[in-house]
Amino acid sequence: MPKSYQLVVIGAGPGGLCAATTAAQLGMDVVVLDEQSSPGGQIYRAITRTPADRSALLGADYQRGASLVEAFKTSGAQYWPQTTVWSLNAQHQIGILRQGQASIIQAERVIVASGAMERPVPFPGWTLPGVMNVGAAQILLKTSGVVPASGMVIAGTGPLPLLVAWQYLRAGVSVKAILECSPTNNLWRAAPRLPQALRAGDYIARGLKYTVDLLKGGVPIYYGVSRLQAQGNDQVEAVNFGWERFGIARQKTLSTNHLLVHFGVIPRTNLTRSAGCHHVWDRGQQCWCPQVDEWGNTNVPGLAVVGDNAGIGGARSAEHSGRLAALEAARSVHLISRQQRDSQGQDDQNWMRKDLRVRPFLETLYRLPDSLLVPSDDDTIVCRCEEISAGAIRRAVHEGHSDPNQVKFFLRCGMGPCQGRQCASVVAHMVAAENKRPVSDYPPFRVRPPIRPLSIAQLADLGGAEE
Ligand SMILES: Cc1cc2nc3c(=O)[nH]c(=O)nc-3n(C[C@H](O)[C@H](O)[C@H](O)COP(=O)(O)OP(=O)(O)OC[C@H]3O[C@@H](n4cnc5c(N)ncnc54)[C@H](O)[C@@H]3O)c2cc1C
Repeated sequence: MPKSYQLVVIGAGPGGLCAATTAAQLGMDVVVLDEQSSPGGQIYRAITRTPADRSALLGADYQRGASLVEAFKTSGAQYWPQTTVWSLNAQHQIGILRQGQASIIQAERVIVASGAMERPVPFPGWTLPGVMNVGAAQILLKTSGVVPASGMVIAGTGPLPLLVAWQYLRAGVSVKAILECSPTNNLWRAAPRLPQALRAGDYIARGLKYTVDLLKGGVPIYYGVSRLQAQGNDQVEAVNFGWERFGIARQKTLSTNHLLVHFGVIPRTNLTRSAGCHHVWDRGQQCWCPQVDEWGNTNVPGLAVVGDNAGIGGARSAEHSGRLAALEAARSVHLISRQQRDSQGQDDQNWMRKDLRVRPFLETLYRLPDSLLVPSDDDTIVCRCEEISAGAIRRAVHEGHSDPNQVKFFLRCGMGPCQGRQCASVVAHMVAAENKRPVSDYPPFRVRPPIRPLSIAQLADLGGAEE
């Protein structure tokens, strides 16, 4: 029989840390699983190991993570670092890989807090060495203080490119240019949502500060960028793009050996989908999200989802949603009453409502156009694991494979080591575009465990390794 735990939290980012801390403080037996080697999640990655000068360089937002980790450490919750979750089902059986050993554990309740991933957007040349995600580059900075050589170009959409360029500026690394790829008329569509966004906190002020500091630091920002292309033979040598100034379309090429890209983040839904949770298409965020109530409950009894995993809300909202799910977990095992849950959760609900006011503005401002969601160039690789091109996917749809799962069976896209994390949303957008239907009609690939690579030897050893 697998060993059973009262509450298992998957993910030690702000959502998982706050959920675990609150539940443990209320008397629950809690285990937190995370594949990283220290707590903090994406935003507070390596917070307990980062030297003071690097932490200062990363900004006050980053330093906030230290107090969350401190509270977590003294809460009594167990922490299993370097533990990868490779399966989750509706009966709360969790497949884990820890110290090279695969095993299954059982949970009475599960809180999934596995966060978000950067949205994959294939464009010509995106697989060339020298092209990498902004988030991945930031991980190198946070964990090891490694930065690219001066002269990199950062392209994409959303607040993260600005933040990372600003962090590089403070680290003394010069950014050659920032290419903002959302359409310029998004600004006019977003404008009516600005007053509400301003009441969410200082997000807009911080975005403006990063922009002003970057411009003062001599970093040019190109707006309305389209037709992005990384060019080169064995590695990226230049970036070619179209852009607009005063309504006039222009074309430009910048030489560089480092192109960092980022097109927003989307929830990691592979665990919640494999557990059978309902998902809904979020029009604002242009992605599928698990359907949750205000306590993080899903349709699967005893399984809650919090933080960016339940829909992109940012680190502060992740904290509040984590606490709310923990209160609900404690209520479900009668450690607190329904009234105690409601009164103790009141502040978190209010803070979360306030914090999320910025989202409609950001989602409209950084909304991706179809030209980025659906690669137009047939030679562009969409499934990196199986090397399936956009042209092959389009041909498969024309030949009658009219939903993403049929395309997957026919071409094997989504069956490689990443199990569709990189291509699932792109294939769904392509199938929808070819069939001239909304992408919400096309749920992404069905998920089959293991959702993370596992060797045959580890799988074979599973029976003898149950915890
Ligand atoms: C690459 C990246 C960089 C970001 N940088 C910033 C930033 O600098 N500033 C900012 O304000 N926001 C940033 N964000 C957004 C911010 O990280 C989130 O809003 C916030 O961290 C959400 O918290 P969370 O607890 O929901 O998830 P996360 O902080 O993402 O934590 C999720 C945790 O789950 C773990 N996990 C995921 N899958 C598994 C699995 N299968 N097995 C085991 N563990 C698993 C991960 O290792 C991670 O520790 C970033 C997002 C990304 C994707």
